[in-house]
Amino acid sequence: MSTPNHSAETASRPAVPEGLVIAVDGTSGSGKSSTSRGAAQRLGLRYLDTGAQFRAVTWAMLQAGVDVHDGPAVAARSAELMVVSGTDPAGPTITVDGQDVSGPIRTDEVNAAVSPVSAVPEVRAHLLALQRSIVADLLAAGHGVVVEGRDIGSVVLPDAPVKLYLSADPSARATRRSAEEGGSDLAATEQSLLARDAIDSGRATAPLVMADGAVHIDTTGFTLEEVIAQVVALAEAVEAHA
Ligand code: C5P
Repeated sequence: MSTPNHSAETASRPAVPEGLVIAVDGTSGSGKSSTSRGAAQRLGLRYLDTGAQFRAVTWAMLQAGVDVHDGPAVAARSAELMVVSGTDPAGPTITVDGQDVSGPIRTDEVNAAVSPVSAVPEVRAHLLALQRSIVADLLAAGHGVVVEGRDIGSVVLPDAPVKLYLSADPSARATRRSAEEGGSDLAATEQSLLARDAIDSGRATAPLVMADGAVHIDTTGFTLEEVIAQVVALAEAVEAHA
């Protein structure tokens, strides 16, 4: 059940089917978050940052002194955690066991530990169920959503009508990420991004891949606004099925 969105309140908004789901995957620093948030705002959709969920679990591991390379220990601790994501694209939130961790999940320590934690199958199973239930609740409430991560189009939401795979040259990614982080060392930032990509692409469970049917956007030569415009155009091209 989906009809174009033409209410007076949203008159200037691009018309897309109600309950549209957009899956955005790609490498670290490819512009997924900025693009996903920006497109969600333009299209009047909610926004789910699954990377923040993996980061929140990782932060909790580090807080608890769990060795992130000890899979069974990570699996056991992750089962006890309550991760809650706020999906307003203008101000997404993330808490773990009631604590706001939106700042602490962006540190070098979490950057270095998140890929090993994300490779643990039990962590993925736990967050997969959470992600699907968040999307189901949003759809039931009449919202569409942009969901970003590494396995959204391939595993979490393979039936999403719009699937994107974003990439960019490593040096462009490092430059953007360094600017976001307030001017962190470029070489170290590039090294950190590539190390995460290698683990994310090489893991056995739900590795980073380009999903079947995904549109590949290499964002290297584009501004953020240009990439958002491409996503909006793809969303507008989705047929509404009565
Ligand atoms: O998107 P972001 O860079 O914040 O993701 C942090 C990490 O979380 C990734 O490097 C990856 O290890 C993990 N991740 C994942 N699957 C997702 C989203 C993120 O494995 N769907």
